[in-house]
Amino acid sequence: MPTQKGRFGPYGGQYVPETLMAALVELESAWEEAWSDAAFQLELRAQQHAFIGRPTPLYSADRLSEEFGGARLHLKREDLCHTGAHKLNNALGQVLLARRMGKARIIAETGAGQHGVAAATACARFGLECVVYMGREDMRRQSVNVRRMRLLGAQVREVTLGTGTLKDATSEAIRDWVANVGSTHYVIGSAVGPHPYPELVRELQRVIGDEARDQYLAAEGRLPDIVMACVGGGSNAIGMFTAFVGDQDVRLVGVEAAGRGVETGLHAASLTGGRPGVLHGSYSYVLQTEDGQVKPTHSIAAGLDYPGVGPEHAFLRDLERVEYTAVTDAEAVAAFRLCTRLEGIIPALEPSHALARARAFAEELGPSGRILICLSGRGDKDLDAVEEFDGRQD
Ligand SMILES: *Cc1c(COP(=O)(O)O)cnc(C)c1O
Repeated sequence: MPTQKGRFGPYGGQYVPETLMAALVELESAWEEAWSDAAFQLELRAQQHAFIGRPTPLYSADRLSEEFGGARLHLKREDLCHTGAHKLNNALGQVLLARRMGKARIIAETGAGQHGVAAATACARFGLECVVYMGREDMRRQSVNVRRMRLLGAQVREVTLGTGTLKDATSEAIRDWVANVGSTHYVIGSAVGPHPYPELVRELQRVIGDEARDQYLAAEGRLPDIVMACVGGGSNAIGMFTAFVGDQDVRLVGVEAAGRGVETGLHAASLTGGRPGVLHGSYSYVLQTEDGQVKPTHSIAAGLDYPGVGPEHAFLRDLERVEYTAVTDAEAVAAFRLCTRLEGIIPALEPSHALARARAFAEELGPSGRILICLSGRGDKDLDAVEEFDGRQD
């Protein structure tokens, strides 16, 4: 849906150092060629099946629907992907592309470590060198994922600059790419960054919505009234929404992290509480101060804790094709517990934001209504965060 090459309306673009322009041009043409090559598609589909476990199921959440007392909820089970979330859909596809381009070295940034683990997993599978940049603070909070990456053979490089979190790790990964651009492919972890990444990541994640739409029609004989997904950088959401964007009767809802409340300033809701600006190579909504400094963010869900959002979401918001809303830490934790108890599924805290907002929509639609939610990952990684939250004063 880019309105001109690399743009979604006014958003997107390529705001990068001159030294990266050639690499982006090379990536774009390699990507276009691969994506239209039947052999690449066949290889990708075979790997998605045998390695990731696709297609993931569509699941009728009967007891949660009953609890909400309104519309019927279905979950798209990305939590059942290998490594526990949708992120491997993207990492695997990009590693296959890098291999095709003859790049033997992969770099990635990671916040909570989920994307780092996905990149390290795909690199182990195909025998590529993998370097993952991670903030010092995140390495401390997510030591299990650091150990997983190292076991998988990746080198994890600690980033001590700035706040020692995801945005600093991303800046460091970009610096590495500038220095090693000939041998290295940078696997970005969400639908963000300079063109062609937002488009490339969307195409690799759209398998979520393409499968879900077919499965939904087969199971229910109709389309859902509302499709929902959580939005960090926006990759699982754009992967889910793309299949439905042309269905004008289907409402699309993206749910951001309101943290302790958007009014407190301690949140990560870029579309709800930010304004347009440039971050990590593209023009989109950014959480920033009056004079354009990137603001510190907060969310209990590490995967949503990012001050930017993919440019296509910014455009879909301006077009009013997707509604964006935000849910607090407390609401997400309550939904996390409810889903676990009622469905026997421990959801990640990220999609728990979408589950929390689904209650109001279920009530609004009533019993004849139908809601489809992207359950982007499993919550085993979040047990410490939930316990810590319970001990917190708010
Ligand atoms: C990383 C992550 C997210 C957020 O990333 P998007 O690019 O917005 O999808 C959401 N859910 C889970 C489980 C994640 O690991």
